[in-house]
Amino acid sequence: MTRLFEDTPPPCPSCNERAARPIIYGDASAEMTLASRLGQIALGGVPQEGNMPQWLCPCGMRYED
Ligand SMILES: [Zn+2]
Repeated sequence: MTRLFEDTPPPCPSCNERAARPIIYGDASAEMTLASRLGQIALGGVPQEGNMPQWLCPCGMRYED
């Protein structure tokens, strides 16, 4: 299986790691659900205006670009 997302995340403002995964908002397709189980993405659920961080770090920090 190829990776769906090749973008290198920006460094985490909390721990400075570049290991974050992208947070995908909205209805999750079967492929997206599988990718989240594999740790490639994080599912953000229903988008909320003004509160949509793009990255989830393994340390738990969610942040924008
Ligand atoms: Zn972090």
